[in-house]
Amino acid sequence: MNVRSISFRLVVWYTSLLTGIFILLGVLFYFGLQHFVENDVQQTQMHRARQIADTLLARIQQTGEAYVADEIKTLYAPEINDRFIRLTRADGRVIYVSGAPTDGSFNPGEIAAATPGPGSDFSRQIHLPGGKTLLVAGVNFQPPNQTSSQQTLSRQTPNQQTPSQARYCVEVGALLDPFEAMLDRLFLQLALGLPLAAVIIAGGGWLLVRRALQPVAQITHAAELITQHNSSERMPVARTGDELEKLSVSLNRMIARLDDAFQNSKRFVADASHELRTPLTILHGELEMLAEDARLDAEGHERVASMLEEVARLAKIVEQLFALSRLDAGEAQTEWQPFDLAELARTTAEHMGLLAEDKHIAISSDASRPVLIEGDRARLKQVVVNLLGNAIKYTPENGAIQLSVNAVNGHAVLEVADNGIGIPSEALPHVFDRFFRVDSARSADSGSAGLGLSIVKSICTAHGAEVEVESTVRQGSCFRVKLPLFKN
Ligand code: ADP
Repeated sequence: MNVRSISFRLVVWYTSLLTGIFILLGVLFYFGLQHFVENDVQQTQMHRARQIADTLLARIQQTGEAYVADEIKTLYAPEINDRFIRLTRADGRVIYVSGAPTDGSFNPGEIAAATPGPGSDFSRQIHLPGGKTLLVAGVNFQPPNQTSSQQTLSRQTPNQQTPSQARYCVEVGALLDPFEAMLDRLFLQLALGLPLAAVIIAGGGWLLVRRALQPVAQITHAAELITQHNSSERMPVARTGDELEKLSVSLNRMIARLDDAFQNSKRFVADASHELRTPLTILHGELEMLAEDARLDAEGHERVASMLEEVARLAKIVEQLFALSRLDAGEAQTEWQPFDLAELARTTAEHMGLLAEDKHIAISSDASRPVLIEGDRARLKQVVVNLLGNAIKYTPENGAIQLSVNAVNGHAVLEVADNGIGIPSEALPHVFDRFFRVDSARSADSGSAGLGLSIVKSICTAHGAEVEVESTVRQGSCFRVKLPLFKN
């Protein structure tokens, strides 16, 4: 996976952002709910405590403490409802305390007493052994003054006397456990759900981004396929109305402009080389006639000979440029026929033997078995001539050249190997470029312009063939051409 790709970075950003937002919302929701639940339990307990104070304690001086205790027990049944209720007088005497709840979750006797005082309502959380929490709300209450007539109506017995003006504290409590268990479950669900949500977000995001960027991949692929040989082709334009459609249209316009410039330059080279051929031929002929003129002295002859040499060199370059422009125009395909490449290579090597002999270079051929291919015979002969010509040119005297043609894995493979001066590795990728010469000094005296191998490359491309080179300086070079075999 490419971690620098836009898809990857978008998905990482978007997943991190959404996961962050989810964590924040989860934390806010969890603590908000906890606060709400505690507040609600506290309000409920406070409401009950106040209810006991307002309904039962308010009349305690008439009804007596024992009556109030009985009423609390009967009306609120704290043990059954797992609640805690305690009524304490200001002097510290506990008037009533509920029993242990049915589930035995806490012992009310162990809960520290709250001292009734003039203070207002209060609430506290008591952490019980076993990790449970009891939320207790308390109300401090002073029953209103009693009147003598009210005292007469009281049902008190002498030992249940209620001290005049006594203050009381009513405490009502409930366990927070059920709510804490619910919060724990919620926490677990959030903790498990979050990674799952992150995976779904990342997966969904990845699919969405891939889909959104698919046209980019198509544009990239199409752009890779457009070369100088098919510059008239254009990239696909998805009519989506978005930025990618604009990008494709702009790139197509740019390719059209480049194609125009490219075609103009090709046309210029084709026209110029064509126009130069005739005057150069005339010039060459005139100079040849002049060279034979007896009126010229020795120096004049020498000068004319030098001019003839330069004109011949110029004519060769123009011929090569003209050949290249015709290859660019796709003319190589017009003369296709099946023929034996081994025989063509053998006879060409024989014809060039004289050139090699001048430098005492031996050309050995391994091309005895017929290797049938289909193509333009004259152009492919040019390939053999150029490769052998270079091998002879760049191999010192007494060197050796090996020519071979074989059928290998469904391909015709032509190889020209020499033990000449070789090509430096940094120059190897450029040897097929137009006008490229490894060392202009070593090529200039041989009349080379750096077009021979580009002609080889163009002819090979026109035949669907590949050409490659391996070379080591001072050890030699090997040029290999791989053509499709003829299938009838
Ligand atoms: P040129 O006409 O200058 O030979 P080419 O296009 O045929 O141009 O070759 C390009 C360059 O590649 C040459 O200038 C030469 O330096 C190098 N080259 C080509 N063939 C060989 C070879 N067989 N051995 C060494 N160098 C070579």
